[in-house]
Amino acid sequence: MNQQGRPTKPGDAIAIAPKTFTGNRALRIEEALIFEIGRLEVTGVDLDEPAAFAPRLGDLERKDPIGLPGLAEPEAVRHYVRLSRMNYGIDTGVFPLGSCTMKHNPRLNEKMARLPGFGDIHPLQPQSTVPGATALIAELSRWLCELTGMPAVALSPKAGAHGELCGMMAIKAALAARGEARSVVLVPESAHGTNPATAALLGYRVEAVPARPDGSVDPEEVRKHLSSDVAAIMLTNPNTCGLFESDVVAIAEAVHAVGAYFYADGANFNAIVGKVRPGDLGVDAMHINLHKTFSTPHGGGGPGAGPVVLSAALAPFAPLPHVTVNAQGVRLVEHAGEAGDAKPFGRMCAFHGQMGMFVRAMSYMLAHGADGMRQASEDAVLNANYVRAGLRDLMSLPFGDRPCMHEVLFDDHWLEGTGVSTLDFAKAMIDEGYHPMTMYFPLVVHGAMLIEPTESESKASLDLFIAALRDLAMAAKRGDTARFSGAPYYAPRRRLDETRAARSPVLRWMRPAAQKEAAE
Ligand SMILES: *Cc1c(COP(=O)(O)O)cnc(C)c1O
Repeated sequence: MNQQGRPTKPGDAIAIAPKTFTGNRALRIEEALIFEIGRLEVTGVDLDEPAAFAPRLGDLERKDPIGLPGLAEPEAVRHYVRLSRMNYGIDTGVFPLGSCTMKHNPRLNEKMARLPGFGDIHPLQPQSTVPGATALIAELSRWLCELTGMPAVALSPKAGAHGELCGMMAIKAALAARGEARSVVLVPESAHGTNPATAALLGYRVEAVPARPDGSVDPEEVRKHLSSDVAAIMLTNPNTCGLFESDVVAIAEAVHAVGAYFYADGANFNAIVGKVRPGDLGVDAMHINLHKTFSTPHGGGGPGAGPVVLSAALAPFAPLPHVTVNAQGVRLVEHAGEAGDAKPFGRMCAFHGQMGMFVRAMSYMLAHGADGMRQASEDAVLNANYVRAGLRDLMSLPFGDRPCMHEVLFDDHWLEGTGVSTLDFAKAMIDEGYHPMTMYFPLVVHGAMLIEPTESESKASLDLFIAALRDLAMAAKRGDTARFSGAPYYAPRRRLDETRAARSPVLRWMRPAAQKEAAE
């Protein structure tokens, strides 16, 4: 409390704040679910009964009335606007989630994606009617190949993980074409969970390669795991500890020496665009998350886009459809029969991928140019190192005090004995108005906190972020545990039971009566 008896700390405020009648807090309005506020007898639109038709869903079709909640237009507008204001995004504040590259989506990209020639076309339109769209696909392919130093790209995968699946399917097809059925995929311990999941989904046995004490992968360790049964290694560079794998070329050579392929997880490409070409490092396949590196929106799991660049050895196996450019112009190859000598392994999705994301990524690339994209990578790395330098005296760095790439990894060593955990610290960040950093990933580090500011943040916004984290870190160290144990104090919902939410999520709303019946 200050001298006037006003709260100065979050704990004080909570202790004295009266409960409001409405449950609202100042102008932040508590919002119930639409099913709870909507009434069945109120409706905004009257739809005619559909003509009789034969359902084709077998036993799955709905037998009860649909029961849509009815709201008047202003109520519906308020409901969704209030919900949208509870959301936190890169447009509201710093979003330092490591590995996710939450960067600003320039509004120019949005404008381009809405041009009618791109926005209003349909994937089943005849090719002759969409020459602009096919030209854009070809041009984006050219830029991605140029930036990565790779000869081919498959654009259709719809996310990074989907791209991994695509690249690994190309590898599987290439091995099959050689008459080989290898069964092992090597994955470093620090890998993103999607890497082993992708390999396992394709029936491979995953072998983990331990990291060196400095967080990097040791080519000697890789050699120990190599054999004629290894199909590929999946390696992220820069890796998920925010460090550049400096032995990547030796690793690629060792992998190729036993006839295996090198899959690079390119999710961290934002750190090296214009600086390093993965093709020069011996990469055979690499996905690029357009929604990370090239600033297209992360849409809550979709729509993203995860194009995969492919080496000459894998290019013939690229999935359909793809674009070819020759003297006759740009052509979309949709069927295996038109693919010449190529042996596409199949398709990743019905059509060509996320056209809207292609337009946004192309817009970003053309707006920045080659030098601008290199500058963006340099600034992303500079910003992460600025955060590292601003916090390293208070928070502990697991791999020593050396420069990082585009993200900086702290562990929880510095919290030992404070009674505050990584989770508590992250929750207290919410009270300060920051989305927490990535926590407990990568798994190779105890209590990991992975911070990726991206190039979007200005020096002023980084200074405030660092100051807020310093204030929290000092509070933890001087034993102010109340600030953490009950956090978040100010969020619309307090601390949730995350384990229960993950283990037994309730994904379906039931009318209270039905809920009672179900319980009985
Ligand atoms: C984000 C990410 C992925 C997965 O990409 P999605 O687009 O989310 O499917 C894979 N690997 C790493 C290292 C990532 O950061």
